Amino acid sequence: MTSLSDLPLRANLVGKQPYGAPQDPVPVSLNVNENTHPIPEAVVEDIVASLARAVRGVNRYPDREFSELRESLAGYLGHGLVAEQLWAANGSNEVLQQILQAFGGPGRTLLSFTPTYSMYPLLASGTDTGWIAVPRPDDYALTPELVAEALRAHGPDIAILCGPNNPTGTPLDREVILAAYEAFDGILIVDEAYQEFDAERESAVTLLPGRHRLLVSRTMSKAFAFAGVRLGYLAADPAVIDALRLVRLPYHLSALTQAAATAAIRHSGEMLATVADIRAQRDRLAVALTELGYRVHPSGANFLLVGGFAEPTATFEALRRRGILIRNLGIPGHLRITAGTEAETTAVIEAVAALGPGGARG
Ligand SMILES: *Cc1c(COP(=O)(O)O)cnc(C)c1O
Repeated sequence: MTSLSDLPLRANLVGKQPYGAPQDPVPVSLNVNENTHPIPEAVVEDIVASLARAVRGVNRYPDREFSELRESLAGYLGHGLVAEQLWAANGSNEVLQQILQAFGGPGRTLLSFTPTYSMYPLLASGTDTGWIAVPRPDDYALTPELVAEALRAHGPDIAILCGPNNPTGTPLDREVILAAYEAFDGILIVDEAYQEFDAERESAVTLLPGRHRLLVSRTMSKAFAFAGVRLGYLAADPAVIDALRLVRLPYHLSALTQAAATAAIRHSGEMLATVADIRAQRDRLAVALTELGYRVHPSGANFLLVGGFAEPTATFEALRRRGILIRNLGIPGHLRITAGTEAETTAVIEAVAALGPGGARG
């Protein structure tokens, strides 16, 4: 048996851990911020009909430019966007990787504000891009001053602002995006994986006109309840899309993915009907955990970062034994919990309450 250390691995991958959120079949799975509500049956049937039509054509390669899907995505985002400004790939992770392949690479850097999405540094090492982590303040909120100062000081080739931010839930204000854009001359990505859950802020796609270095990344994995299909997308200047064509693999979006995503977007109203309930469950969870003495950070997403656990790892394991999977990200005293259905949220509240103050009986 050969082990990883016997192989001539690229130097920048030595010692790295792969992305690895546990995938346990437990009754209450609230660890990767999926929408836990099932897709409405009528929508399932229409998607299946679209897939059946697509299967009849799979002897041929799919539409390399996925034109129909890009039209649909442009229509869904609105704000006058056109298909030429849209791009998609197998999850927004693949979109982000393509951006790093096109604009990062050896001798170049990616900057973000931590704690943030754990995939950013992994995507950087996978593309041999230098990673610059700038710590967020104690409340995790970014200000125009903080962001502009960091970007001026480091002058990265690419910066990512995650809004709402994973894993903290922190919303991202428009003034922060604008200050970031003005502060450096590189590529600015706004990762809006959770945008649909933020009832108060407009999407950064409204800032695209006149800003050709601004890229807005989105996904169907979260609010849209479509994580298993793998469809992430991007809105940006058409020239940026041309750059991504240089690095994408030919026919990277399968005919089945294109058909399923296009069908789901036809039903965006029904697909997003659960968002209001998820927000309500998130707020109910926040109130309940605050009453139990925990520190709940403000969230514009479908999850909460919760502080005040004496032993987060023990609490994580205790909940797992009770069939509830949440996320332990190694932030001292903290755990992240996705807002699920009403029943799932009740299960979490009752289980955490049963652990006693600070999760002490973990
Ligand atoms: C979940 C998530 C994504 C989405 O990843 P997909 O590849 O589209 O499933 C992107 N960014 C952040 C911050 C996320 O939390």
